[in-house]
Amino acid sequence: MKVFIALIAFVAIVLVALFVWESGVDTQPATTDESAVVAPPAPSVGMVDDARILAALENEPGSWLAHGIDFNERRFSPLTQINRGNVDELGLIWHKDLGTLHAQEATPLVVDGLIIFPSAWNIVHAMDAVTGDTRWVYDPKVDRGRIGTIWAPLSRGVAVYQGRVYVATIDGYLTAVDVATGTEVWRVDTITDRSIPYFISGAPRVGGGNIYIGNGGSEWGTRGYTTAFDAATGDLVWRFWSVPGDPSLPFEHPEMELAAETWKGGEWWKVGGGGNVWNSIVYDAELNQVYLGMGNAAPWARAIRSPGGGDNLFVASIVAVDANTGKMNWYYQQVPGDNWDFTSVQDMALVDLEVDGVMRKVIMQAPKNGFFYVVDRTNGELLRAHPFATVTWASHVDMETGRPVELEQGNYDKEAKWVLPGPMGAHNWQAMSVDPETGIVYMGTHDFAWWFKIDPNFQETGIYKWRVGQMNTGTDLETADLLEGVTSPASQGYLTAFDPLTGEVKWQNELEHFWNGGVVATAGGLVFQGEGMGNLYAYDKDTGDRLWGFDTYTSIIAPPITYAIEGTQYVAILTGSGGAETFLGKAADTATDTYGNHPQLLVFGLGGTEQLAVPTVRPDIPPLQPLLSTDRHELRRGSILYHDFCGRCHGGQAKSFGVIADLRFMDASVRDTFDQIVLEGAREQLGMGAFAEWLTEEDSKRVLGYILYRANADRDKASEAEEGTTPI
Ligand code: CA
Repeated sequence: MKVFIALIAFVAIVLVALFVWESGVDTQPATTDESAVVAPPAPSVGMVDDARILAALENEPGSWLAHGIDFNERRFSPLTQINRGNVDELGLIWHKDLGTLHAQEATPLVVDGLIIFPSAWNIVHAMDAVTGDTRWVYDPKVDRGRIGTIWAPLSRGVAVYQGRVYVATIDGYLTAVDVATGTEVWRVDTITDRSIPYFISGAPRVGGGNIYIGNGGSEWGTRGYTTAFDAATGDLVWRFWSVPGDPSLPFEHPEMELAAETWKGGEWWKVGGGGNVWNSIVYDAELNQVYLGMGNAAPWARAIRSPGGGDNLFVASIVAVDANTGKMNWYYQQVPGDNWDFTSVQDMALVDLEVDGVMRKVIMQAPKNGFFYVVDRTNGELLRAHPFATVTWASHVDMETGRPVELEQGNYDKEAKWVLPGPMGAHNWQAMSVDPETGIVYMGTHDFAWWFKIDPNFQETGIYKWRVGQMNTGTDLETADLLEGVTSPASQGYLTAFDPLTGEVKWQNELEHFWNGGVVATAGGLVFQGEGMGNLYAYDKDTGDRLWGFDTYTSIIAPPITYAIEGTQYVAILTGSGGAETFLGKAADTATDTYGNHPQLLVFGLGGTEQLAVPTVRPDIPPLQPLLSTDRHELRRGSILYHDFCGRCHGGQAKSFGVIADLRFMDASVRDTFDQIVLEGAREQLGMGAFAEWLTEEDSKRVLGYILYRANADRDKASEAEEGTTPI
């Protein structure tokens, strides 16, 4: 079973497309719900500036003003009212159903008594942080059909600055909204080329009068960049490209000339190059720098992307740029010539600490590749790079050169290999917390191996075929290979307390599921983390002992926050999975897999007694479906198409993870209108894009045939009926 789970998980994660229907019905309000609006807050609300964020932990420790609590992004709260001694009295005070089935990854902000966060489709909610009363709801009206062919409608957060909430939308716009009223002030398009599927899932950051935002889409053939906009006007201040573009065109800025020398052979500019800054951007007020966490190279396989070798700057790097001009001050590349989807976009914490007897201003980061980096942020000097998980692609990082020493086990140029970490990373975007007193880092980590194999078509022909709208990894992601006896090393999730200076794991808890939420640690001696299995837990930060838990009956991937208003401390978290895990199909047996997704905002306090209703368990035996075909060749073609275009959202082997419709359960109304839905976009407003650009009517029929076959095969398997249920 474990093997099967890992296989499904690993194939499904990278497959394209979004087919939302039936249970994809999204009841989230399309516009402000007037009846739910109570008195608007005072006009001075949300007047957040650099000085206020800098002094936040001292002056208003109960606020959560910026994405990582303040500019340093340590996510360590000084609050102590809820502590080791009384956390067992913690209970639910109020909760809000978010009216959507989609992923919740955001860190809420708490500013002037409001709790503000984006839900699915970047719909922003502002609520009274004590009572949960809705103050306003802002809907940026994203292009649901367009994004439906690319990525899940999720967001990791918004920013508040100078009386406005800044919302970066999944379809690539940046909007300023009045904090007091939720009305739009300005909107700019952050996308340079709308013919390429860029999207934004990350939270914008603020500082020095600017708003900073990047984008995602490496796997869809984009060329990453970060843009600074004037916070007041929305005017473009600077743009920093992550990787060089078409060599026949002039360099956009001098750093691209340096970068271009490190890309050799190949025609990467035609397929994007990647380096997308899709998560971490940190503003350093003291040094007036912005740190950009650069994404993986695209396509993943460097033999295709840059066959002549080279480091491929600035993929998988931390780049420090001047906050005013966007001019590069320094860079540190973690993975030269990235070959494994190793992003360096994971959260960066700014910490001042003693290293080898010298006080240093450092960045701490645990990127996907499995090494924990401590870098001097004044000059980019590497100070530490200890492994924090199982790493098989490199033996260590050479501290003289700052470069990883690669192992043959990581080289899949000629022969497919299992590699740890895989594209899920040893740590991903899920927030970590740094205790500034001890320097100990708390984070969710995991071992999740990946079977890397060069695109067989490329290997045969030497020609790389790719087109806009399809996945662009240069590796083989087809199901068939995964089901032909390839055995996956087991996957395992952990909550890890790690000392980045010594490399010592202070304590580590094995978790039931490998993919879990971010963390917050507090001066009350606690670490909070939500899990894929549905529980929010509190641990003793010194020992890892579990002190408290609460079952939310749905998977959690967002990070908790804690805040205090008028002397009362709260813990808040958004629940509901999706995003990357949507791809994992029914593999996980998580809370969402069992009960479906039930995204909510939950707010806890001492003495809280609210209860959540236990959801009904999802049926797992599909109805008997009318088969279109039993021809193995046709079914196989349907399977390949399904996993190329549908599996990413609807799940490997047509088994939904529980966020959106399980297609095996479709009824006649869906079967009969399948082409309209799949090809023409009949359900675009639910996020199910139109696929006529990529799929013919014949293809659509093959996909349908495969889904119906899977339904019956799984039905047979469930009743242990017959032979002939071999997965296609
Ligand atoms: Ca990637």
